[in-house]
Amino acid sequence: MAIRDSPPRIWRLRDVLYRIKYAKCRSCGYAFYPPRISCIKCSSKDIDIMVSRGLGTLIEYTILYQVSSRFQDNAPLIIGLVRLDEGFNMYGQIVDIDPKDLRRGIRVEAVLRRLRIDGSSGLITYGLKFRPVIGVHLGRGS
Ligand SMILES: [Zn+2]
Repeated sequence: MAIRDSPPRIWRLRDVLYRIKYAKCRSCGYAFYPPRISCIKCSSKDIDIMVSRGLGTLIEYTILYQVSSRFQDNAPLIIGLVRLDEGFNMYGQIVDIDPKDLRRGIRVEAVLRRLRIDGSSGLITYGLKFRPVIGVHLGRGS
């Protein structure tokens, strides 16, 4: 049975859904996502939990043209691997860009966007996606 969204569940998950929290090791300086209680590089438990500014660079991407009916409104779906400026990688949906304009190395920023609407209750769930950084991606064509 599927886990259904509910306001209390979304409230409990708000730090995961609406902020990018990562871990930074005090011993070796390694930054990683998702956060864990010990460093994935040196195993130290001397870890700081930090909040990312949400700015990064698109490293790799893939475009999904065949998606389930649930994601039909978002097709084609662009999934990217983003290197955040704090030094860790994460996957996310890339929005607000035409697939033909995609390329490795563009600057992106995390934005809060609607993920889904529960048809029976009308509950709207939001989450983080990435879009090109406006003003860096655009307007440098001279
Ligand atoms: Zn470490």
